[in-house]
This record gives sequence, C-alpha cells and structure tokens, in this order.
Amino acid sequence: RAFLEFDRVQKSYDQETLVVRNFDLSVAEGEFVTLLGPSGSGKSTLLMMLAGFESLTSGDIRLQGRSIARMAPYKRDIGMVFQNYALFPHMTIAENLGYPLKLRNMRGAEVRAKVQEYLDLVELGAYGNRRPAQLSGGQRQRVALARALIFAPRLVLMDEPLGALDKKLREQMQFEITRLHRQLGFTVIYVTHDQTEALTMSNRIAVFNAGVVQQCDAPDVLYES
Ligand code: ADP
Ligand code: ADP
Repeated sequence: RAFLEFDRVQKSYDQETLVVRNFDLSVAEGEFVTLLGPSGSGKSTLLMMLAGFESLTSGDIRLQGRSIARMAPYKRDIGMVFQNYALFPHMTIAENLGYPLKLRNMRGAEVRAKVQEYLDLVELGAYGNRRPAQLSGGQRQRVALARALIFAPRLVLMDEPLGALDKKLREQMQFEITRLHRQLGFTVIYVTHDQTEALTMSNRIAVFNAGVVQQCDAPDVLYES
C-alpha cells in the first residue's frame, strides 16, 4: 500500500475551469517528490488540498490508506514550509520552535531539549534567544524548516521554500534540505518552478502544465534524452 495516494484528484474554483485535472500519484514512504511547472499550473492548489486548506472537487487523497478529508487537521501531522517564513515576529527563535510542541501538550523540559536539538540540527544552536528580525534570510528559512520538522511529521510539504533567497543561499538550502531528508527519512512533496532545484533534490519529478501532469519520473529518466 502506498504511503500517500492521489486518486483522480480534480479541482475547480469556479465550477467551470479545472485547475487540476485527473491527478494520479502514488508516493512511497520516504520519497522526495517534486511538482514542477510554471506559475498557475495548479501545483499550490494540489498542496493546499493535501494540507486540507482546500476541498477537492472530485477524487480522493489518502494518507496511509485513510482519506485526508476525514482526518482532523491536527491529526494529519503534516509539516509545512512556505516561501514567506511565517515565523512569529514577537517570539524568539526558541519560542517559535517550541510552539508546535506546546500545541501538542509537550512538557516544558522536554520542549526545551527538543528545541535545542533542532536548533543544532539546522546549525543555529546559539541563536535561540534572537528574534526573527535579527537573523538573515537564510537563517530564518532554516528556522522555518526546523519548526516544520520538530514534531517529527512523516510528511512535509514545501511550497517554493527557497523562492525568496538569492542564488548562493538557494544552493546552500537545497543541500541542507537534502541532508535533513536523508537524515530524518520523512516524505516530501516539494513545489517549485525551478528545474535545477527539482533535478538536484528529488527522487521523482511530476511535470505540470495547465493542471495536467505531462510526465512523472526520476530526474535521470526525465532528462536523459
Ligand atoms: P501554481 O502553484 O502552479 O502557480 P496555483 O495552484 O496557484 O498554481 O493556481 C492554479 C490556477 O488556479 C490558477 O489559474 C490560479 O489563478 C487559480 N487559483 C488559485 N487559487 C485560487 C483561488 N483561491 N480562487 C480562485 N482561483 C484560484
Ligand atoms: P546568511 O549567509 O545566512 O544569509 P548573512 O551573510 O546574510 O548570512 O549574515 C551574516 C551574519 O549577519 C549572520 O550571522 C546574521 O546573524 C547577521 N545578520 C544578518 N542580517 C541581520 C540583521 N538584520 N540583524 C542582525 N544580524 C543580522
């Protein structure tokens, strides 16, 4: 049984145009799958349906065999990283990281230990007492990554997480995300319009155009010709 399954998923916002058409995809646990395509091709819509922020017009998405429509949002245990870091500006970095754990009723001492573990994991061990505005863009994005991973979700969604960063930082962060994926073994659905990013990081790439997947294969298969 697949870890994550999209079964003939379709989406229309206006009951006329399908912005996602007949989307089928089966994802194994631990896979890094990228949705690659131009702006407006339906990638974010798919991610929003998977996260439970948008309803499906038809079809089904199943996580470990269970339809996500029937799972309460907090029970889905999905980590998310977006282009705008969405850190809480008035909280310190440590408080930002501790937040998802407090939501899950973890005790104070345990929260502090976990926060330090994940700060170290993204090489920001000494930055816990700073506020987001006191960090660089790359550092803030590493905090956002740590916050998405700290409650050990089995599935992590990333929507253009490196879109706001310059080229050098983007390359560093690609490496960082790949390292964390290998180390922690979570499953990733990654959205980008950047072909190089997709090629560097993914096990498989689904190429989108106008709501339809043209092809879905491993990078070396997609680009061998
Ligand atoms: P991508 O992530 O590939 O840029 P989106 O999923 O954001 O694509 O958008 C796909 C299509 O759906 C676009 O035509 C976009 O304008 C439309 N769309 C996205 N979100 C909404 C919304 N909330 N209401 C109406 N139309 C939307
Ligand atoms: P990065 O390569 O991670 O983006 P930068 O070269 O932008 O790092 O920043 C280098 C150092 O400057 C970092 O240690 C960071 O803490 C500090 N720094 C960057 N932006 C700010 C800021 N707005 N306020 C305070 N310190 C900052």
